Amino acid sequence: QSFIEARGANVHYGEKQALFDINLDIEEKRVTALIGPSGCGKSTFLRAINRMNDLIPICRFDGSLQIAGQEVYDPAVDVVALRAQVGMVFQKPNPFPKSIFENVAYGLKIHGMTSSKTEMADRVEWSLKSAGLWDEVADRLEQPGNSLSGGQQQRLCIARTVAVEPKVILMDEPCSALDPIATAKVEDLIDSLRKDFTIVIVTHSMQQAARISQRTAFFHLGKLIEVGDTSDVFTNP
Ligand code: ADP
Ligand code: ADP
Repeated sequence: QSFIEARGANVHYGEKQALFDINLDIEEKRVTALIGPSGCGKSTFLRAINRMNDLIPICRFDGSLQIAGQEVYDPAVDVVALRAQVGMVFQKPNPFPKSIFENVAYGLKIHGMTSSKTEMADRVEWSLKSAGLWDEVADRLEQPGNSLSGGQQQRLCIARTVAVEPKVILMDEPCSALDPIATAKVEDLIDSLRKDFTIVIVTHSMQQAARISQRTAFFHLGKLIEVGDTSDVFTNP
């Protein structure tokens, strides 16, 4: 079922057009991979979904982008609430300069999602378990997030995103700073998250798209050139 719908979406950086007339349906509770050569507009499209592009003053969106029937670029949209509903994981793990516990608790506090200390602790534990990290950090929750390995830090960032229970998780090349073993763990994690979340992932790796996605969208020079079930698009010659 289509959950995110882009219709006639264009993005400009000043005079330069980065995306041209994108029409794309993204289905609920599946992993959609955005793939294509560097500079083709994958990250720009990803950042359009939760209006992260708004942070770039010269960046302009026009066209339609709806999530669950809601127009994301409607001026009445609360962008802070939108970004809680549509979480983001970046290429380079970027834990807050806080403890492991606080990294996960922070979003819960900001969004006023917990009323008691025990509820907070329970949610932090649930989030770390969801990210497959609990067993590795349960005895060191007060240590700084950046004391973890790179792969653990990335899973911490995923736990932090999962904690606020978004509908959608956007991931921008989440494994490209990781070694193969850490990459495999994050890929397994992405696969397990798809039962609860709609995931959109930018990757430059066809192999990764084939391993973890159900749908693949190919971009080239700012245009969407093909989209289909991953099992079909990678078997066609
Ligand atoms: P990637 O291919 O991994 O997205 P890039 O090197 O294309 O990495 O971009 C890295 C950062 O630089 C991004 O935040 C992107 O928005 C910004 N960027 C890319 N191209 C330009 C540009 N022409 N002018 C200013 N910033 C840019
Ligand atoms: P990809 O993620 O596929 O590598 P991007 O979305 O980062 O591609 O970039 C698409 C185009 O938009 C590129 O030409 C890039 O230089 C340009 N671009 C990206 N970010 C910026 C920015 N902050 N300012 C100006 N141009 C940008």
